[in-house]
Amino acid sequence: MSDRDRPARRCRSATRCRALFTILAVCACSAAAQTKPAPFRVLAIAERGGLHRPFVDAAKAWLDREGKSDFSVDYIENTDTIDETLLARYSLFLQLNYPPYAWTPVAARAFRASIEQGSIGWIGFHHATLLGEFDGYPMWQWFSDFMGGIRFKDYIATFVSGTVHVESASHPVMKGLGSTFTIENEEWYTYDRSPRRNVRVLASVDESSYTPPTTKKMGDHPVVWTNEHVKARNVYIFMGHHAELFQNPAFVTIFHNSILWAAGRN
Ligand SMILES: [Zn+2]
Repeated sequence: MSDRDRPARRCRSATRCRALFTILAVCACSAAAQTKPAPFRVLAIAERGGLHRPFVDAAKAWLDREGKSDFSVDYIENTDTIDETLLARYSLFLQLNYPPYAWTPVAARAFRASIEQGSIGWIGFHHATLLGEFDGYPMWQWFSDFMGGIRFKDYIATFVSGTVHVESASHPVMKGLGSTFTIENEEWYTYDRSPRRNVRVLASVDESSYTPPTTKKMGDHPVVWTNEHVKARNVYIFMGHHAELFQNPAFVTIFHNSILWAAGRN
């Protein structure tokens, strides 16, 4: 075949090639459709309005983009509708911005059962460790135990930046992170004791790195951990005050990893 012939031969076979390509593409799509797991459902609880509204709004926008065809999120603003029937519809419970008090008794029972039996995954941020007496409510002792037997003590109201050390680099939640990362302008909660003896610590903040320095310290200071004494895959992530966290690649990576792991997808 001469060089001059080639374009003509290509032209004649183009239709056939397109047909073949279409068939292959359809086959590839069908195969992908067969192997791709069905989207999973996430139930997220976040209080309406308040100081943390920008964080919640940023989280919703991020979750919309992140979910795509992998998961969908339904939002609630209080625990009134939570019972075992509702929780059974979801793979993951996201405590985006909600404290461990002011839950209805039915919601508290259903949540505890789901976590203990492992029928749902859980990710809690920030307010999930407001453990103590708040707003006239007693401390939920089971939730305190779930969080490693801690009680909320104080917070850094002046906000400081800090270096966080990854402690369990092999855990799926820590995948893709370096050995340290920085969290800017955070209000770092302190507790009456470190949860370390009751949980697996995934990351902790180095209090000596606080900028500007502050005397409000607790010593051993875990900030991301999981409780391996319950069946549910669970992750507590302390950070969750500012919307700017969604500009921080380390925070976004932890959130992304936590969703997939806690929902049983990796
Ligand atoms: Zn806050």
